[in-house]
Amino acid sequence: MKTHYTIPIFIPEKACPFRCIYCNQYNITNHHQIIDLEEINSTIQQYLRTFPQDGMKRIAFFGGTFTGMSLEEQNYYLDAVQPYLQSGKIESIQLSTRPDYINEPILENLKKHGVRIIELGAQSLDEEVLQFSGRGHTVKDVEKASQLINSYGFTLGLQMMVGLPFDTIEKTKKTARQIVDFGAKCTRIYPTLVIKDTFLEKLYKNGHYQPLTIEQAIDYSIAAMEIFEAGQVTVLRVGLHPSEGLINGTQLVAGPFHVSFKELVMTEQWHRRFLPFLQPSDCSEIAIAVPHEQLNAAIGYEARNKKELLQYYNKVEFFTDDIE
Ligand code: SF4
Repeated sequence: MKTHYTIPIFIPEKACPFRCIYCNQYNITNHHQIIDLEEINSTIQQYLRTFPQDGMKRIAFFGGTFTGMSLEEQNYYLDAVQPYLQSGKIESIQLSTRPDYINEPILENLKKHGVRIIELGAQSLDEEVLQFSGRGHTVKDVEKASQLINSYGFTLGLQMMVGLPFDTIEKTKKTARQIVDFGAKCTRIYPTLVIKDTFLEKLYKNGHYQPLTIEQAIDYSIAAMEIFEAGQVTVLRVGLHPSEGLINGTQLVAGPFHVSFKELVMTEQWHRRFLPFLQPSDCSEIAIAVPHEQLNAAIGYEARNKKELLQYYNKVEFFTDDIE
């Protein structure tokens, strides 16, 4: 199977119709800078130089609500990347947007320009959670947009958050089940963080919002991941990208942030599988076969799982079973 390589192009945020309570990227004006063509071309060429010849390459427009821009602005970006698509240097185009910015003319235009993957920020599929998070759209909006995207033959991605106000593990599971039912092929799971200069910060400081602990965020994420695995939805990301402001704490007020959040989640998944072996036994050695790509996760973040097994066995060995 060929590896996918993504060239990210960050689109500046346009004016948001609503203010999501966890977000400090909110833009109250409709003015945003257009990235010039030279910059787009040099970004693409830089990435192409580093990618292997035989990989599957795609351009992804991230950051903004792509279809919230006028068709003219959308086409400015889409036209800019057409030469790469037509020459076969890239295979596809991907973008992210809000569910309430999807309609037939928008999708027809995206189709015409060779867009293949559309990711929607669903965040939760519980009305109460959506309402209190200030998302400004309903579950029905996500369902309608998903149906439309699927009917046009795009690959649908639905992103979700865990730990928003009024979220529970049951609501997280319900959201994950609906993401599967709505026909998503991929997803991203983001634990809610309290970021500076957001309404959520005020709620937190007034004692009206309590973020998930890191252990709870791991639990919620595993619950969703199990549903996605059963529903054959690919989990593209777990945890926010560790930006400088999150790492050095200048942007982060509270919440389950960890630079290696995904590793923690996978470590815990393997820990749960090892539970039957974490007890006194007659064996002094244990050898565990794991799929090649899961080796580090099985050993665990900072070798946590291995160290725990070593409390019960003199020798713990992991090997990869590369059986197809
Ligand atoms: S999260 Fe909400 S407020 Fe923030 S940029 Fe996206 S749509 Fe706008």
